Amino acid sequence: MKTNRFFPEINAGMMPKHDRTAWLKGGNAQCLTPPRKPLGNAWHLILLGAPGVGKGTQAELLSERLACCHLSTGDIFRAAKSCIEKDQTPALQNALDYMKRGELVPDGTVLQLVAERPRCLRCSGGFLLDGFPRTIAQAEALEVLLKKENIRLTAVLDYELPLEKIIARISGRRVCPGCKAVFHVATRRPKIEGVCDQCGGELVQREDDRPEAVKVRMHAYEESTRPLIEFYQKQRLLIPVDADGSPEDVYRRTRLRALK
Ligand code: ADP
Repeated sequence: MKTNRFFPEINAGMMPKHDRTAWLKGGNAQCLTPPRKPLGNAWHLILLGAPGVGKGTQAELLSERLACCHLSTGDIFRAAKSCIEKDQTPALQNALDYMKRGELVPDGTVLQLVAERPRCLRCSGGFLLDGFPRTIAQAEALEVLLKKENIRLTAVLDYELPLEKIIARISGRRVCPGCKAVFHVATRRPKIEGVCDQCGGELVQREDDRPEAVKVRMHAYEESTRPLIEFYQKQRLLIPVDADGSPEDVYRRTRLRALK
């Protein structure tokens, strides 16, 4: 099948969607449908931004259309949450408690999970890191991992949105625990209220989207993650992107502004 490097969106509908089994499960798990190998250089991107800014949605669009793998640390924890308890290591159970409260999981646990998945960083389709790094210590550890693999970052996209819009997005977000689809009570409504369009599951609010956890997440962002903006600015990798508007608006802006 012929693919188009310059307009990868054209390819998106032609290719089977790649899965992320190796990332979500770790260990020896392998992806059934790995991302296709791009004709030119693969993208190696980091997505930054406060919780609720829409990073996850952009990550989905970008990974589907640019064919790079969406590596989200939050998704590893959510996947672990749906495992039966005996399959969760004590470190993961501990991490899930932090997550429930909206606090950052300790760097050591997060770094161990990422370091256990070097194949995903090497993936020939490239990657898009979402939710990692989240602290300077994580960013420094990532530098070491990437150096070892001889991988250079293409860019760090920093999604920006005023706080009141972020709060509106988070408080209206509903997710399907079954197939992980994401909806919003005002801007991305399911066809039937409270029911997932894709699998018919009952939509719920994420535990860490409840107001008390959101406050903690925002504080953690300001304290630990915002300093990464300067960290990547100094490396001339940072590209700010206005995150206002529909997911398609923001996607187009990302492509025009950053990924030409
Ligand atoms: P958000 O919607 O806030 O961007 P994510 O889905 O990326 O959230 O992550 C959800 C939660 O998982 C975080 O609030 C945190 O508890 C935990 N988490 C995910 N990635 C990291 C990380 N790199 N460092 C520490 N904690 C993390």
